[in-house]
Amino acid sequence: MSKPHSGRLLAYACAAVFAACLLGIVLRPIGFLSVFWPANQLLLVLLLRYPHVLLQPLGMAAIFVSYVAADVLTGSNLWVSTGFSVANMVGAVSAWWVMHKHSKRDLQMEGQFSALLVLYGSGVAATVSAAIGGPVSAYAFSVPLLKGTMMWWTGEWMNAMILLPFLLALPSARKATLPQEALPLPAIVLPAVAVVALEAASYAVGAKIGSLAFSLPALLWCALSYRILTTTIITMLVFATKIIIASWIDFTPMHFVDVATFRLGVTMLILGPLSVAGAHAARSELLNRLRYQAHHDSLTGVLSRNGFVQASSLVLQRLAHERGSLAVLMLDLDHFKRVNDTHGHGTGDHLLCEFARTVVHTLRPQDVFGRIGGEEFAVVLPHISAQDAATIAERLCLAVRAGKFQTLSNEPLSATVSIGVAHVAQLSPRDSIENLLRDADVALYQAKSRGRNCVMLGPAR
Ligand code: GH3
Ligand code: MG
Ligand code: MG
Repeated sequence: MSKPHSGRLLAYACAAVFAACLLGIVLRPIGFLSVFWPANQLLLVLLLRYPHVLLQPLGMAAIFVSYVAADVLTGSNLWVSTGFSVANMVGAVSAWWVMHKHSKRDLQMEGQFSALLVLYGSGVAATVSAAIGGPVSAYAFSVPLLKGTMMWWTGEWMNAMILLPFLLALPSARKATLPQEALPLPAIVLPAVAVVALEAASYAVGAKIGSLAFSLPALLWCALSYRILTTTIITMLVFATKIIIASWIDFTPMHFVDVATFRLGVTMLILGPLSVAGAHAARSELLNRLRYQAHHDSLTGVLSRNGFVQASSLVLQRLAHERGSLAVLMLDLDHFKRVNDTHGHGTGDHLLCEFARTVVHTLRPQDVFGRIGGEEFAVVLPHISAQDAATIAERLCLAVRAGKFQTLSNEPLSATVSIGVAHVAQLSPRDSIENLLRDADVALYQAKSRGRNCVMLGPAR
């Protein structure tokens, strides 16, 4: 609580909980518990994000006052409100206790087991809070203890499964995720259209329990097509609409068994699309990571031989179509073995990284740069004359010569590079990156024979 912004954060948290309580109170049928109570899920998410502010005596006291104030200001009895607020807060804290040790990915609904974690955490919260809130509501609304407790338990669990995934996934909207493949328009629109159509069909057939699950295939389709946040929003809207429109079930404890089974059914049904979405997100992330590793050099972070050949082949294909010009540069650090022998392999690795960084800074964004192997690197320069390619190669040579490299023990280290250039004025489909690399390698060999630290241009083509 010492940081100056902690006070402001606590004030916002209290205001948000207070507003969520008022919303829940508006949705209370006369004389019974709310059909939708968002405050506890909001509190849980705030606890997971800001435990250092909220899980403190002052934080907990302020939140408690917010709960009670919303109730009392709207005409509830102080003692009943106190009982409800204790139940709500104890539930949220128990869910925090169950969930807080899990990874950030899991808590943003992007883990394989995120949906099950939410089911488990909110199940614990619902059970613990029902143990307090059930008896209080039984007393407050003069209903049997079992009915009061079951209504609290099922309502709380269902509320959490509807709202919590969305609140947990929310920050991922701002996060820069790894690039995803762009989907064609029908693939973007159709899953959502299918949800609307199947939901409409479920309402059209009327109040039949089976129609609850009509839209499940479309929701699974959404889970496999959209980002996790979009899926949680769609799921939330579908199921929130269900519980509002399903007014054929009286949400008071008169039809207690109907209400409880309906709520448990909804709770379990939501698990399907959310589980698929989480597993899909986890698999996509893994694939992206593997794809990155397959195309990048783990030491320097630049393209690996494989990644370089793939990226340059695409450039060559495009340029061959346009009959454009292109240059391939082969770079080889001079006397690199000596660096290893004199200063150790660690310094050699360090130099390779610094060298790669120097080259990246000298190149244009459209140029392709990769580590071909050992201390050999290659560059593809699209749309370039032979003269400009030689100038860029000279600039690279100079940048390395002037580079302020260091050994691992911070002693200055000088390095030079030899560069062979292969240039094609008009690419044809017969040109391949392998052939051009070979030509550049021949020119590089000449640069080495001429005493290194220089650029040699291969024969004009
Ligand atoms: P030249 O000027 O003729 O190119 O001489 P050179 O010493 O640079 O070339 P040579 O091919 O004789 O030696 C290359 C050395 O690069 C040998 C190898 O141990 C070292 N090397 C290859 N890969 C790595 C690496 O990942 N890290 C380090 N530290 N050294 C590497
Ligand atoms: Mg070499
Ligand atoms: Mg070398």
